[in-house]
Amino acid sequence: MRPQTLRAQLTLWYGALLFATLVAFGAILYGVLARNLYRSVDQKLMALAEVVAESSVRNFLRPGFRDFSRLLEEFYGMPAAGQFIQVLDPSGTVGSSTPNLEQRNLPLSPMALKRAVHGGQMVYETFGTLPKALRVLTYPVVVRGRVRNVVQVGTNLGAVAETLRQVLWILAVGIPSLLLLALAGGWLLAGRALRPVHSVVRALRALDATTLDARIPEAEGTLEVQELSTTFNALLSRLENAFRKVREFSADASHELRTPLTVLRGEAEVALRHPRSPEEYQDVLASSLEEIQRMGRIVEDLLLLAKGDLGEAPVEMLPVDLSALLAEIGTHAAMLADANGLHFTAAGGPPASVMADPLRLRQLFWNLLDNALKYTPPGGRVYLSHTLAEPGWVQVTVKDTGIGIPPEHRDQIFERFYRVDKHRSRAQGGSGLGLAIGQWIAQVHGGRIEVRSAPGRGSSFLVHLPTLDPDPSRS
Ligand code: ADP
Repeated sequence: MRPQTLRAQLTLWYGALLFATLVAFGAILYGVLARNLYRSVDQKLMALAEVVAESSVRNFLRPGFRDFSRLLEEFYGMPAAGQFIQVLDPSGTVGSSTPNLEQRNLPLSPMALKRAVHGGQMVYETFGTLPKALRVLTYPVVVRGRVRNVVQVGTNLGAVAETLRQVLWILAVGIPSLLLLALAGGWLLAGRALRPVHSVVRALRALDATTLDARIPEAEGTLEVQELSTTFNALLSRLENAFRKVREFSADASHELRTPLTVLRGEAEVALRHPRSPEEYQDVLASSLEEIQRMGRIVEDLLLLAKGDLGEAPVEMLPVDLSALLAEIGTHAAMLADANGLHFTAAGGPPASVMADPLRLRQLFWNLLDNALKYTPPGGRVYLSHTLAEPGWVQVTVKDTGIGIPPEHRDQIFERFYRVDKHRSRAQGGSGLGLAIGQWIAQVHGGRIEVRSAPGRGSSFLVHLPTLDPDPSRS
């Protein structure tokens, strides 16, 4: 089963890796040590055999030759207990041997004797099992091309076995102890490294919709944890902003609908206070209808924006002749401008087609023209024109010489219900949703709206839309 916590996973991985490394290291160490120890035993045996062969040639094969003890002592530098020598004749009969062999002989396999006597080869053999095993070298003494004697030297492997046993014991106890120590250290270190993550989690857990202004301390922990905190804080800022907008929007929307409702109620109450003439009732009803229509417009606009947010607003894209559509809107605007004492100019422009929903596009330009007419005092001018400024784009400009927009409001006028002058806008039938809808329509069509304005001198709204032909210069 996989451990659940990162701390346990890190510790386990670390432990497994360390265990594998230690075991591999121990195995290599043990292997190399064993090989070298056995090789050194064999080398010693060969050197001894050579010395004995020399002396056995000189002293010939004499039964009871007892000088080997001294020889062994000289060779090993100490009284030899586990080292043995014997000299045989080519038939395998033991001539002389070290006294420590007493009445016994060193073991000799027929194969070794045969290879030594007939092949002149030396043969290493191991007899018995560790720790009492005996390593024996059978070594031919060749004099003038003839095997004269066979020397056998042997040694007990007990000391080598003991050394290896001790090394094995150290490894068997050392590796698990080291591993335990490292696991404990790893567990502590992983815990320490992850502590800042836990404090981030605790800080986040304490948050809800009412405490979105709280922030996680960013200076704590490693760079990764700091990045996590910074990212969370950025997310919190965005959430806080979004929540604030939703709250403001709800407050604005209810306020916007409450005003016409108050007017309606007031008018109805006044009308019902005394009996009235039919004309008076008619007046009240006409005024009520106006308020109802105003509320209807607001609700419809809100619904459109809500659907736009969800991507569910119906938008039917068709190839649209933009020049014709603007000319048609211009005709209506000219009449309205005339009625308001304004000069209207539709400058026209080159033929341009766009892929668009004609109803929505009309709504967009009409909202801009409606604003231009609303926010320009009598005697002012309103212009409507379009150009193919960039390849693949058409730019429609709605320009007026009206009151203009102060720079500090310019970024916010596209927000829902935002108005520079609430009373003025409401008196002129505005609800503060026209530009928000206009921007949504421009975006749905792959375009954008830009605003340029100087207070007291007028404003220009520039709508950029992609044309049907991406590069009209090629058509
Ligand atoms: P409204 O219904 O209030 O006109 P809009 O969303 O259309 O709502 O516009 C938002 C605000 O932007 C307006 O209240 C007004 O203050 C400002 N505004 C828009 N167009 C113009 C313009 N042509 N000249 C001056 N101010 C404008």
